[in-house]
Amino acid sequence: MRNTLNYFYDQLAGIYSRNEIQSICFMVMQNLCGCTKAALFAADTLSLTEEQQSRLNSLMERLQKKEPIQYIIGHCHFFDINLEVNRNVLIPRPETEELVEWILKDNIQKEGSLFDICTGSGCIAITIKKYKPNFQVSALDLSEEAIATAKRNAEENECEIRFITDDILAPQNINEEKYDIIVSNPPYVMEKEKAQMEANVLEYEPAMALFVPNENPLVFYEAIGKFGLTHLNDGGKLYFEINEALGKETQELLEKQGYQEVTLKKDIFGKDRMIRALINR
Ligand code: GLN
Repeated sequence: MRNTLNYFYDQLAGIYSRNEIQSICFMVMQNLCGCTKAALFAADTLSLTEEQQSRLNSLMERLQKKEPIQYIIGHCHFFDINLEVNRNVLIPRPETEELVEWILKDNIQKEGSLFDICTGSGCIAITIKKYKPNFQVSALDLSEEAIATAKRNAEENECEIRFITDDILAPQNINEEKYDIIVSNPPYVMEKEKAQMEANVLEYEPAMALFVPNENPLVFYEAIGKFGLTHLNDGGKLYFEINEALGKETQELLEKQGYQEVTLKKDIFGKDRMIRALINR
């Protein structure tokens, strides 16, 4: 494996960090040879067939153009599930795994209902349904392509989820149904933050899933908060992933809307990344 890894370090130097290159190398080699991480480690060198070698070359070219490895191989891991991803959906982030973990730990009841707004690949809705099979889970997205991807992911993971295509900023297809939990990881990156972002995100991931205007960065939080006031059961909970720079503002917004016990939670990097709010009428 050392030689293979060195080859990846050489080819991708300056594009990704060494840690990133290492995980990319594993993902590529697993995809190419179908072997486990342990087997890869055990082998000092790998002999590739001609066909594998030519696939590796074309993969490497795409990696050098900063295309995310998850889009190249067409899937990723989230929590302990496998998800199809493509350029219509964000590649789920580890921070979102932390949000799912919080919801699962915080809600030990077996039955209930959950609505995931801006579902993208379906990562949040599917993981929760997987761990709480007796929950009624619904998921919404504006993008038809995202909904189609999320549906395939739900099927692949044998999860029954109701999908709705709609714009949460101007909903037309949502009925009066109420939920115990509403969760969302909406777009929250301000346009002005683009300058600090990497090309692999900017050039390949869907802008509509990422960006909000500088002047109105909480537009989705405001709309979903308002929606929750009429679509959460009494005692229901609202969970969000948030922009680390807007923790206080998001908290104040939800308090102003009438939510109680609005609590910020940090991610493993110590950044304000999640928020929970309760509604008791
Ligand atoms: N955390 C993601 C990023 O930094 C953004 C996710 C989102 O906008 N919901 O790319």
